[in-house]
Amino acid sequence: MNVGVLALQGDVREHVEALCDLGLSAKVVKLPRDLEDLQGLIIPGGESTTIGKLMVIYDLLEPIRERILAGKMAAWGTCAGMILLSKDVGGHDQPLLGVMDTCIQRNAFGSQVDSFEAEVLIQAIGDAPFPAVFIRAPVVESIGPNVKVLGRLPSNGWTVAIQQEMMLATSFHPEIVKDRRLHRHFLTLCSLVDA
Ligand code: GLN
Repeated sequence: MNVGVLALQGDVREHVEALCDLGLSAKVVKLPRDLEDLQGLIIPGGESTTIGKLMVIYDLLEPIRERILAGKMAAWGTCAGMILLSKDVGGHDQPLLGVMDTCIQRNAFGSQVDSFEAEVLIQAIGDAPFPAVFIRAPVVESIGPNVKVLGRLPSNGWTVAIQQEMMLATSFHPEIVKDRRLHRHFLTLCSLVDA
């Protein structure tokens, strides 16, 4: 199976290592031609405005959007990646893929110093809660009817993990913890793609 990590800015290496732990050699995606043959793409955390502008500069925005919408590629956005997959970020003017029927609030928990960890129950990956790390994290404000909530923050019930068909989005950073269940879940989605 061919799975890539968008490698313009952010937590690229950590996602590549996580996939390596699952026996997969991930493709590092920097140019449109790197998308060929991919059944799945991870859009990492980092800074969504920067990643979005670089996607425009490197002519990646449209090819990624098209491949996802054509059902040729599953996608998973973590933190900034979740923002980039979304249709709406509350009026911010920034380049977005706009493929998920979601409205996202950026920096919903404050700045870098307000980073925290929480145990998030995600039934789709098992009964044990997931150790979720939130760093200048976004939160899901509203979702369309075709989006499923996978996980909420126990303290306030805010939505932090969602899925829409072959698209997965998490507010937090699964790549920086040892637990690989979300990466495994994503690979299951990728394996369903008929590339
Ligand atoms: N706050 C960042 C943004 O808006 C996301 C932070 C992250 O990816 N850890 O893009």
